[in-house]
Amino acid sequence: KGDRLRLPPWLKTEIPMGKNYAKLKDTLKGLKLNTVCEEAKCPNIGECWGGGENQTATATIMIMGDQCTRGCRFCSVKTNKAPPKLDPMEPINTAKAISEWKLHYVVLTSVDRDDLPDQGSNHFAETVREIKKLNPQLYIECLTPDFRGDDKCIETVAMSGINVFAHNVETVERLQWLVRDPRANYKQSIGVLVKAKQFNPNMITKTSLMLGLGETDDDVLKTMEDLRKNNVDCLTFGQYMQPTKRHLKVTEFVTPEKFQYWKEMGDKMGFLYTASGPLVRSSYKAGEFFITNILN
Ligand code: SF4
Ligand code: SF4
Repeated sequence: KGDRLRLPPWLKTEIPMGKNYAKLKDTLKGLKLNTVCEEAKCPNIGECWGGGENQTATATIMIMGDQCTRGCRFCSVKTNKAPPKLDPMEPINTAKAISEWKLHYVVLTSVDRDDLPDQGSNHFAETVREIKKLNPQLYIECLTPDFRGDDKCIETVAMSGINVFAHNVETVERLQWLVRDPRANYKQSIGVLVKAKQFNPNMITKTSLMLGLGETDDDVLKTMEDLRKNNVDCLTFGQYMQPTKRHLKVTEFVTPEKFQYWKEMGDKMGFLYTASGPLVRSSYKAGEFFITNILN
């Protein structure tokens, strides 16, 4: 216990609530939607759901259940080699629920489903199509598993009508073995983003890294260079937080100034946007960034 790091003051913040937040929360009550925002008690919920000046309310929705076939050492999602079957009504029900919700940008994410022949890629695509049918004006991002690098799965999601294809490398190359499930790796994950763009060049690609897992500045810089070389468009950095005692320890609480440094570095290197801060998550204000930095 003694070797756990103390929480620095910048992580003890109050959660700011935007105006739209209460309204969205109200609508959410009767709908059977699993938002990561609520379930993970995400500190950005006020900002994301609030949407700010530009009317860009963002929420993240988890599909395909809450049990994952993998066991990454930073993640608190339950592991199960044989999770329950997919709900065939989920795509349409998700679309219906979302259309009652005044959202502008939705992030669909999921657990990994190595148990399914198509790893869940068709379920992802089906959900996107149903959402677009009912809400053609809504921007959709899919934050996907690596699909073990399978071309067909990547193509299925990339061609489903989404605006942003996100897949997280999570950490630098040197620490992949420590942090992620053994089935995941750095090259495969970058490959997923490369292939997604090859299938659909008009689509934006995006990835995320957690800091505070033992990476050096050189490691981070090398990762950023690799991502740019491979035409990954957007990047986010956030602080790794240990979810339970059984998970990897935080090695460092990176200062807000250092996060700012990485943001500026990202801007210099030509990412369309780099969101970087202790509380930033891969979907942090994704709608606002998409609309102000990419569409305009
Ligand atoms: Fe968590 Fe994703 Fe790893 Fe599954 S694959 S354990 S959901 S990070
Ligand atoms: Fe939801 Fe992601 Fe925003 Fe957190 S950062 S509130 S999970 S959209």
